[in-house]
Amino acid sequence: PVDVTGSLLDGLDPEQRAAAEVDGGPLLIIAGPGTGKTRTLTHRIADLVTARGVPAAECLAITFTRRAAEEMAERLAALAPDAVGDLTIATFHSLGVLILREHHSSVGLSASFGVADPDRQLAVASSVVADEKEARALVASGDERYKKALRAQDLVDFDDLITLPLALLEGSPALVDAYRARWRWVSVDEYQDVDEQQYRLLRLLAPADGNLTAIGDPDQAIYRFRGADVGFFLRFREDFPTARTVHLTRNYRSSAAVVTGALEVIAPSSLVPGRELRPMVDHGAAPIGVHHAASESAEAAFVARTVEQVLGGASFHAFDSGRVVGDGTQGLGFSDFAVLYRTDRQSRALVEALTQSGLPFQKRSHDRLVDRPGVARIAHDLRYAAGATVLDRVRAVAGDDHTAYELLKPLATASGEDFERFHTSLALGVEVDTWDPRADRISLLTLHASKGLEFPVVFIVGCEDGLLPLRRPGTDDPEAVDEERRLLFVGMTRAQRHLFLSHTTGRPKSPFLSALKAFDQVGDAQPKRRRKGTQLSLL
Ligand code: ATP
Ligand code: MG
Repeated sequence: PVDVTGSLLDGLDPEQRAAAEVDGGPLLIIAGPGTGKTRTLTHRIADLVTARGVPAAECLAITFTRRAAEEMAERLAALAPDAVGDLTIATFHSLGVLILREHHSSVGLSASFGVADPDRQLAVASSVVADEKEARALVASGDERYKKALRAQDLVDFDDLITLPLALLEGSPALVDAYRARWRWVSVDEYQDVDEQQYRLLRLLAPADGNLTAIGDPDQAIYRFRGADVGFFLRFREDFPTARTVHLTRNYRSSAAVVTGALEVIAPSSLVPGRELRPMVDHGAAPIGVHHAASESAEAAFVARTVEQVLGGASFHAFDSGRVVGDGTQGLGFSDFAVLYRTDRQSRALVEALTQSGLPFQKRSHDRLVDRPGVARIAHDLRYAAGATVLDRVRAVAGDDHTAYELLKPLATASGEDFERFHTSLALGVEVDTWDPRADRISLLTLHASKGLEFPVVFIVGCEDGLLPLRRPGTDDPEAVDEERRLLFVGMTRAQRHLFLSHTTGRPKSPFLSALKAFDQVGDAQPKRRRKGTQLSLL
């Protein structure tokens, strides 16, 4: 029964509620994995617009990925159906498009400027220099000649979507005032992963005493390699001296063993003083399993075998050292398993083993939409196609290529008759995520791609020195090693009930694993051990 007198915030725990209830002013929410960040942020926004009289049009919510923006929009549509249409829910890049569309002439663009996809970028650069290799250099460095040629064709590229709005705002205090007056309530998810340009843009949009909510977890900062700087998160309270800080420490995702193990791993370089994370749900007493395999293929075989055993109802008897494991593995399907790895190359052995065992899987890969078979051709041919709506045109051009047509359909439908918008979305969706959280398949993911997700059973393969931390030739950067440790922290905290960490004899065991105080050595190849079950290793 629905309690009609209750508020939207009743579904939150006391910490989440305290964060959601903060009225105005800068707010920093430091929240560990599985503590309900998205839930807190969406409830906060929904409550502001439904109960506290904030006009929805004054709210801007920024996320890092399109998927996250879509998820937030979905949840807000459920919580505040009347207001959701007026909210601005954007990624940094779609926010850039919005600002540029409104001020196109100031940067020498027409109202219908396009966003160049990577192929178009290369084509433009190739019109400046003949050599293809050099053209790629021009694109990568944002060379002036290339940018000039881009503008001549009324185009911007992905980087321009941040740098041009930034330059516009930095050059016009009046414009800054106008946007500040329009979006008086700004929130940013995953604040630990902003880069310098995004940070500068945010500082312009949100005054120091403004209503800016930043939420994130510094210990999950994993995008340093592409320019993100967790330092912006850490100095939030200096940038916004009147900021309130709220900690979310209750974890609703993982078993006690997983939470404990993850905290042990992150402790040596945690960026959150006095890091606290308390397991709130009973997910059984299974310890973390550590497996030592003879080779990469043996490791993959261990994964396949374990999935079969769990699904076959054998549960974890083979791995259980006499304790009751709980019935959490009953009723699991393939989609409840994820295998995580540091580098995409490691997925090969897994694909082979799972295929051999007849186990269905899906790989999350961040393909560029325009790289998908058929899509590039259709995008190209569309320029010359006639038709009433974008969808009509796409359908006509796609012909028998159903896969490409299905990939493009949502974009085409959303664009209606606006062809420019279709092309912009196509370019903005440079990465298409074909991974389907609802498909009944085992997920194969890089540790980076696992961010924000959760699964009952998680394997992390290749827990080896050289892979985790990954060593790149010529670098011996302690900060890079810290980031690798955070990456393992992110991976471990995806697990709800069971977590397996495996390594092979190919390399030394990952030094990060030495922090684990309790785990079960499981499923090792020696037949003697298998028969006997496993020993609990308490170091
Ligand atoms: P991450 O840092 O890994 O992205 P997160 O903080 O975004 O984690 P969520 O994915 O939002 O965490 O939530 C983790 C899980 O906890 C979800 O399954 C969510 O439904 C559940 N959850 C969150 N808050 C509560 C609550 N108050 N009561 C019960 N379950 C909750
Ligand atoms: Mg999240």
